[in-house]
Amino acid sequence: MSGHLAIIGLGPGAAELLTPQATAALAAAAELVGYGPYLDRLPPRPSQRRHASDNRVEIARARTALALAAAGARVALVSAGDAGVFGMASAAFEAIEGGPAAWRGIAIDVLPGISAMFAVAARIGAPLGHDFCAISLSDNLKPWEVVAQRLAAAAAAGFVIALYNPASTARPWQLGAAFDVLRGHLPGSVPVVFATAVTRPDERIAIDTLATADPARADMRTLVMIGTAATRLVARPGAAPWLYTPRGVAVPA
Ligand code: SAH
Repeated sequence: MSGHLAIIGLGPGAAELLTPQATAALAAAAELVGYGPYLDRLPPRPSQRRHASDNRVEIARARTALALAAAGARVALVSAGDAGVFGMASAAFEAIEGGPAAWRGIAIDVLPGISAMFAVAARIGAPLGHDFCAISLSDNLKPWEVVAQRLAAAAAAGFVIALYNPASTARPWQLGAAFDVLRGHLPGSVPVVFATAVTRPDERIAIDTLATADPARADMRTLVMIGTAATRLVARPGAAPWLYTPRGVAVPA
């Protein structure tokens, strides 16, 4: 039998945000490959083997999945959120490009998932209603100068910014430095959202402003969203305000 690789986005965490297509592909797989905590989200099936790996070894993990599929297995390679957004899908294609020619013949399906920025946006209103971008703050895979340049360009261009990987114990200073860069291009009043473990039991969401945002609120399970000067707060009784970015923008003067 010929092998198959499904590259699957698991969504932000809640089981009901896993797509039916992903659920079916996970059930059909004989081998599950992924970062340990993501595999732990999936119900155990005695017929399946699990290959859990550590963070930061994406290409090695992708190669494991590809080698299993090339040997004839039905393999599921999982990522949080959407597998194509700072996830395993790119790692798989990078491994294929540099790997044995036979890997190019493997049947592959990339199955979309709900990325953290969409889950966060839906929780707080509609912050991504106008032009936006996503930036990973991790400087493991790119130099900090590139991160800082992109932050400045995105803020100056008027994009709402979804910041992935804002902080970890190994990267404690980057978010504070990012806020400093952004303060050079945006008014202190723009909203900053700290959304941690969204749709998981320990979800935490806080809305602050760029002037007062405290980087210590973020950890590796946080998505930080930076509004623009156009992003609005709509007060509501007894609850945090809705936050949205209007669809239209004025012609620059
Ligand atoms: N492929 C994933 C992103 C992987 S990078 C996706 O599309 O969502 C890992 C980063 O994603 C984390 O550091 C955090 O910034 C964000 N993230 C993933 N799940 C999250 C959740 N449930 N709540 C908030 N942020 C999350």
